[in-house]
Amino acid sequence: MEIKKQAEQSILTPVMYLKGVGEHRAYLLAKLGVHTVLDLMELFPRTHLSRLVNPTLAELQVGDLVSLTAEISWMDAKPTSRGKKILSVGVNDGKIGLTCVWFAYPPAYLNMFKPGKTIWLSGTLSAFNHQLQMNHPDFEILSDDHEEEGFWKSRQLLPVYPLTEGITQNLMRKLMLNAFSTYADQISENLPDFILEKHQFPPRRDALQMMHFAQKTEAAERARIRFAYEEFFYSQIMWARHRVFHDQKEQGITFVNQQKHTTALKHRLAFELTSAQKRVIREIFADMCSEAQMSRLMQGDVGSGKTIVTLFAMLLAVENGYQAALMAPTEILAEQHYQNFIKLLEPLSLKVVLLKGGNYKGKSEIKAQIASGQAQIVLGTHALIQKDVAFQRLGLVVVDEQHRFGVEQRAQLAAKDSHPDLLYLSATPIPRSLAMTAYGDLQVSQIDEMPPNRKSVLTYVRSDRKFDTVLSDVSKELQKGRQAYFVCPLVEESEKLALLDAQRLFDYLKNKIYTRSTIELIHGRMTNKIKDEIMRRFKAGEIQILVSTTVIEVGVDVPNATVMVIEHAERFGLAQMHQLRGRVGRGADQAYCFLIAHQPQSSEARERLSIMSRSTDGFVIAEKDLELRGPGEIFGYEQSGIPEFRFANLVRDQAILTLARKDAFEIVLLDPQLMQEEHKLLRIIYLSKYRKKEELILY
Ligand code: ADP
Ligand code: MG
Repeated sequence: MEIKKQAEQSILTPVMYLKGVGEHRAYLLAKLGVHTVLDLMELFPRTHLSRLVNPTLAELQVGDLVSLTAEISWMDAKPTSRGKKILSVGVNDGKIGLTCVWFAYPPAYLNMFKPGKTIWLSGTLSAFNHQLQMNHPDFEILSDDHEEEGFWKSRQLLPVYPLTEGITQNLMRKLMLNAFSTYADQISENLPDFILEKHQFPPRRDALQMMHFAQKTEAAERARIRFAYEEFFYSQIMWARHRVFHDQKEQGITFVNQQKHTTALKHRLAFELTSAQKRVIREIFADMCSEAQMSRLMQGDVGSGKTIVTLFAMLLAVENGYQAALMAPTEILAEQHYQNFIKLLEPLSLKVVLLKGGNYKGKSEIKAQIASGQAQIVLGTHALIQKDVAFQRLGLVVVDEQHRFGVEQRAQLAAKDSHPDLLYLSATPIPRSLAMTAYGDLQVSQIDEMPPNRKSVLTYVRSDRKFDTVLSDVSKELQKGRQAYFVCPLVEESEKLALLDAQRLFDYLKNKIYTRSTIELIHGRMTNKIKDEIMRRFKAGEIQILVSTTVIEVGVDVPNATVMVIEHAERFGLAQMHQLRGRVGRGADQAYCFLIAHQPQSSEARERLSIMSRSTDGFVIAEKDLELRGPGEIFGYEQSGIPEFRFANLVRDQAILTLARKDAFEIVLLDPQLMQEEHKLLRIIYLSKYRKKEELILY
């Protein structure tokens, strides 16, 4: 009893004890990441609804991001001819009509859109058949609000919260009010005074209230900027400390360019390195030959030739008497590197080994060679970070497709020996501005040039009604002995639905179209072992056509595959389409990419498809992608390994990030341990948030 009473008074009390919540609602709130009262107070509105500004539809243009209120006039949920269920809701503002469309929606929606009710909408305006349209808008049915709380009734701006089933907007607003009226005085400051003054930030207590109860959007935005800064600031303190730690320890290995194996490899190459490759090799060598431990990210589009650059770095370590290791995310990729390296290194008589997962004959022998130092170049998967794998003298660690590994796994490999140099590879092109800051203290090298004479992939956008012409184009390639990929999208995150689509397409192609080819289906619900096996057979040419959900391995190299067909391309992000297209065009033959576009399409989707047909340069596409993205959407980047922020948006908040980074580095360079009196608060907050993460990166 005593304990509960104490807990009740704290802002960290379980949200269950907040007035109006209780056990069941606490369970529902947990799905939104809300566990304590403070969590609830930090649950930011997704957006705000203004009761004052209400544009009429006539003022708006296609492509605009708009918020407005209108009246519902009709609802329709007929299945389409292809058996898919689309929900359409017509609304109007008295003069002009607009159709809202959902391609996937929860069943509860069917009872929500009653003609005559007033609805608030927010989304991007598009057009279809000369009719204004909004796909998957944010919405709120306002006519339900009769019993609206007195407080909210008089507000000009209403917060719109992320919801989960069983929690309504009204309830959420009521709970917020309860939380703030009881606990607001307990909200404590997170930023030192001198920072608040420097940037004129509102104190945390005010800022949180502004987020929820502001009367003007500008005030809410001012508050949000403070929180974005706060988040960036502490993450940058960590990176600043990382920098200082590495500079001081100087524990890195100082390699010397002996020009032995590296020069031998250069002579053996059948091609001239591109100038981008040469520059990146210089950057890496400069790092490796310095005393500091290298921590570098190498970015380059698929096919830009990262592997050979990596090999030069590994040989530099080897010619200095060290071992070099490369960790790949899948067995098939590790195997691919192994075959490649064996071929290239043949005359150098170096010992190259491959360590795979599981138990197999000869494995203990390989482990012994790694432990004795006899194995000079070690390739493998996660098997490399197992406890029982010890290196004799590890000088360089390369992590391929780095975003596929967690920070922890990378740290484990890096900690295998004393401070080996670290090189991370990534094929996700991210604009330089973003990469530099988002990855914190990693140095970034970019291979922004393709090897010469590479035929760029011819890309065509085709309507789904012309699908049969695509199929016959694919046939022509198959007849020449080439191979093809067909990819289906993930619908609403659900692997199940995607599987249905992929399965349907697979059955159709197998039974009706390509009856004489070997065709296989691959999807995310298969075990890695089965997926690897199918990819191996595709690579070996035993399979001609691969139908898949979006699981095709990013780095697998099948030069004989010349066709990529992307079904429902209008649903894919630019980054994703670019990655998929990179699967083809890796050999000498002309390759093709067909983007199958279904109606309806948003104007943004059309723009994406048009960019894809115009450019094959990953960095250009990444820049366009940044431009096109609406606020709050860091969609294609979830695969990139960029850390996730709760309040901050990496795309929109670049300027704040730069500010926070500068402040953090200034502070840490002067006072690395944050021991000065004026850094006391900063130290406490920092350690509470980052102590664990820091242990992982300060190896
Ligand atoms: P990725 O960056 O996707 O890992 P790879 O390293 O696998 O690309 O290289 C793709 C292909 O290009 C390989 O077959 C490789 O031998 C070849 N390649 C690499 N560099 C050059 C170059 N400078 N000139 C011609 N071909 C090259
Ligand atoms: Mg590669």
